[in-house]
Amino acid sequence: MSDGVATILIDAVKHWERTADVVVIGQGVAGACAALEARAAGAQALILERASGGGGTSATSEGIFYLGGGTAVQTACGYQDDAATMFTFLRASTSAEDEKLRAFCDGAAAHFDWLEAQGVRFARSAYKGKAVALRTGEGLLMTGNEKVWPYRDQARPAPRGHQVTPNAQGSGAAAMVALLDRCREAGVEALYDVQATNLIVDGGGRASGVRVRRGDATLDVRARKAVILATGSFNSNPDMVRENVPLISSTSLPIGIPYNDGSGIRLGESAGGALEGMDGMIATASIYPPAQLIKGVIVNTRGERFVAEDVYHGRLASCIAEQPDQTAYLIVDEAIFAYPEAERAQHRLIDGWETIAEMESGLSLPPGALQATLSRYNHDAAAGEDSLFHKHPDYLQPLDHPSYAAFDISFNKSVYAFLTLGGLKTDAGGRVLDADGAPVAGLYAAGACAAQIPHDGKEYASGLTLGPGSFFGRQAGRAAAREQA
Ligand SMILES: Cc1cc2nc3c(=O)[nH]c(=O)nc-3n(C[C@H](O)[C@H](O)[C@H](O)COP(=O)(O)OP(=O)(O)OC[C@H]3O[C@@H](n4cnc5c(N)ncnc54)[C@H](O)[C@@H]3O)c2cc1C
Repeated sequence: MSDGVATILIDAVKHWERTADVVVIGQGVAGACAALEARAAGAQALILERASGGGGTSATSEGIFYLGGGTAVQTACGYQDDAATMFTFLRASTSAEDEKLRAFCDGAAAHFDWLEAQGVRFARSAYKGKAVALRTGEGLLMTGNEKVWPYRDQARPAPRGHQVTPNAQGSGAAAMVALLDRCREAGVEALYDVQATNLIVDGGGRASGVRVRRGDATLDVRARKAVILATGSFNSNPDMVRENVPLISSTSLPIGIPYNDGSGIRLGESAGGALEGMDGMIATASIYPPAQLIKGVIVNTRGERFVAEDVYHGRLASCIAEQPDQTAYLIVDEAIFAYPEAERAQHRLIDGWETIAEMESGLSLPPGALQATLSRYNHDAAAGEDSLFHKHPDYLQPLDHPSYAAFDISFNKSVYAFLTLGGLKTDAGGRVLDADGAPVAGLYAAGACAAQIPHDGKEYASGLTLGPGSFFGRQAGRAAAREQA
């Protein structure tokens, strides 16, 4: 039992409104892929969706799938990648379990082919610059910390952000239109406007069905083989966010649909599922584009740098959130001055100064601190080696063209949009695990209601939700279809 959500004993069910082999809760990317794969394995799959149609947050997303290991797009664009290199990078940069990571990396290229076979389209072209997401139609970009030290020395960097060819509503919408069409064609049935409120379990605790609310009615749906939870994250549940994610500030902006309220996590918990990484979030507000701003330096209230400025924007956000008073300033000179393009982030220009000493005093930094920071940075930049944080030489340039300006990029003053990353603990097959690591019988979870591969924003790369969410959704669908009825 958890937070008022209780399981219902099967003996208490008087009437089964519907019965299916595999019952999937939620029709975002994870649920759609789970149902498609269960159906392909011969099971009768039924989706229960709270909204009046499928799509979820997935349909509102940028449609970037993190995939690699030598996908058709990577190969067509001349990039070398293989499962071992992808694994080495993700092993070094995330804290996911080996088994899950290995399954994802080994299966990623074939999963890309499967997505295309469902009608999800990716252009055979790559964007070479640094961008958060593309508006220019290319199918591939570098979306994480692959070129960031120390990872660039551990695994050959390869772009793995595969962005879907957009329709008029965008890339996420295009992906979901294709997957929803495919669900219909494959004979996956979906009931809309039904909200799962409880799991139904048998005497041994096996998930055997779902209680749903439809309008004022309460209905029970039988799952002969298994239930798959695919309800998305909990970032639209302010209480759950406050309880679990300590770094969130009053200016942090939850993104996603209102139905990402953590209900699937609560349902899984009620049946004995353990939770993992619940304090994790990916917050995003970027100083780039334009990429020239990455040549600036970022300091805290001590006037000290604390991160390489070229890291992935989610990693930067997490590092800023951990600074004293969650405060950080982006310092630029006249040679690289520009306004950050992401207006929603509200990275405010504080002021301009003729000297670093005047800026130091204008920002109320400890006397001498910023001057020392800039002196070391400019020396390093001239030598082409950032001795402190190993920022990539591409972004090293002495800041020696007065005047100087500072943007306030503090975590609690700028607007950082966030997504939660924690959820139900699952294995590589998508089975929900209990506190002892044993599977909860008949219960699977995938997508953002399951703990994700990155456990916090420092580990994230764009696409690491849709990529693994769709991949592990399929794993869950396949395994659920194999369960005994
Ligand atoms: C603006 C934006 C851009 C993004 N861009 C990217 C990106 O490019 N790449 C990436 O990897 N990630 C991206 N993300 C994150 C990503 O979109 C989500 O994490 C991902 O879509 C989650 O997929 P899901 O299938 O788990 O959940 P969802 O797509 O949210 O689907 C969950 C479904 O479950 C339903 N549901 C919820 N509760 C219940 C219930 N109790 N009963 C029945 N149904 C229920 C919901 O209505 C919903 O349809 C982005 C997010 C946003 C907001």
